[in-house]
Amino acid sequence: MQSYQNLIGGEWIAAASGKTFSTTNPADTRETVATYPHSAQADAQAAIAAAKAAFAGWAAQTAPARGRILSKASQILESRKADLAKLLTREEGKTLAEATGEVQRSADILRFFGGLSYTLGGQTIPHDLPGNLLLTRREPIGVVGLITPWNFPIAIPVWKLAPALLCGNTVVIKPASQAPAMTFEVAKALIEAGLPKGVLNVVTGDGRSVGGELATNPDIIALSFTGSYKIGHGIYQQLAQRMARAQMEMGSKNPTIVLADGDLDLAARLVAIAAFGLTGQACTATSRVIVERSVLPAFTEKLIEKMKAIKVGNGLADGVTMGPSVNAQEFQGNFDYIDIAVKEGAKLLWGGAKLTDGDLAHGYFMQPTLLGDVTPTMRIAQEEVFGPVCVLIAVDSFDEALKVANGVDVGLSASLITRDFKKAMVYSEKIECGVVKVNQISTGLALQAPFGGLKKSSTDGFKEQGAGAVEFYSRLKTVYFDYSA
Ligand code: NAP
Repeated sequence: MQSYQNLIGGEWIAAASGKTFSTTNPADTRETVATYPHSAQADAQAAIAAAKAAFAGWAAQTAPARGRILSKASQILESRKADLAKLLTREEGKTLAEATGEVQRSADILRFFGGLSYTLGGQTIPHDLPGNLLLTRREPIGVVGLITPWNFPIAIPVWKLAPALLCGNTVVIKPASQAPAMTFEVAKALIEAGLPKGVLNVVTGDGRSVGGELATNPDIIALSFTGSYKIGHGIYQQLAQRMARAQMEMGSKNPTIVLADGDLDLAARLVAIAAFGLTGQACTATSRVIVERSVLPAFTEKLIEKMKAIKVGNGLADGVTMGPSVNAQEFQGNFDYIDIAVKEGAKLLWGGAKLTDGDLAHGYFMQPTLLGDVTPTMRIAQEEVFGPVCVLIAVDSFDEALKVANGVDVGLSASLITRDFKKAMVYSEKIECGVVKVNQISTGLALQAPFGGLKKSSTDGFKEQGAGAVEFYSRLKTVYFDYSA
């Protein structure tokens, strides 16, 4: 069992209260994975003060100097990939292959922003008059707060931290209590790579007190949050009071549309990955499959074949392709939604049962689950179920499919399976989502491309990931020089 301390001002320290909490392995709740400080407001305040004190020195470094530290941290993470992936699987539950991919992704993100450091800057703009120079300077904004969820416990902290640090800001991060280990491991790698004291501060503890302090403390100039709509909406209200910069990335109800002209084998393969990979615990997971009625029986049969081949179990075991739900609450939530759907008239087509054979009895294991006869207004078709539960909605045309796909109040990712180029283009124009895929899984993102949602999935002011991620973490100052006289 590991034991972590808060990182404040470059020191590893316990919560002022001395209280701790621990995480357990969702695949085997008999195992305690790690212990952490159960911090309160005072600890968060100390972290914010440390970040404030470190700001001037870090901001004064050049972007390439800061980038060099990110690149070196990337190498350190990559060299520890196997161990970190195992720890990630033990704390969050995803399969070792998924965890390994996520650690590699995090190393790649650090490498990307390390390289980007050579291009970070403003722009020269033609002036109306001769003998004049007009330009913008890109500057850091100050102390930034980051609040992250448990489902990508290393990738999400890193995709916020890397641009925040690159731009010259100092940071206080509060990882999700369910899986904080990876944030500390990233902090260790950054410190070993040469990050000065106080530039990055990590505080664990209850969301309401530690996260609440980040949301309300006037020294936090900007806050980037990823998590549920309920919490994100609340934090946004707190930030609005002092007009702090806000980036809220939240949940969704992502569709995959399967058209009659599409390759049904491909559709079944992609939906099986997008709906049940990562145990369905991805913000971009497919949870609604909208299928043209003429191919519904054939598609359903193919999808169920794929589902039968999914091997559920401890993510560390050989051959396992789907791990457990992350905790008792999410686990129970999946079954609650299945019950609600069946009561509303949906038909359970496959799965829906807890798995309790042998060691599985000690974890949050369930079958991947498919519901049919679902109509667009049922709760199961409208509300996020953060687990391996997917529904089929039959439609009679492409237009109806688009209408159903857009008929929710969220919009993060959407996929379409078709061979019809025109329909694919129309769909990419009309779908109300931040990420649009054709003949691809709704999950899976290119780290070099912008990412973010629409509607209630995002505040939609700034994108994450890609080179544009620096916009949230920097400001432009416009400079006029007159050398004509
Ligand atoms: P969550 O319950 O909203 O928690 C997210 C973070 O907020 C955690 O660190 C949590 O701390 C903290 N928090 C809780 N209450 C708070 C408060 N009152 N003030 C400030 N912070 C507070 O979300 P989750 O269960 O971790 O993550 C799942 C959700 O994230 C899903 O809805 C999923 O769709 C969404 N998500 C979205 C994206 C995206 O990019 N759009 C990506 C991944 C996940 P504690 O852990 O201590 O409670």
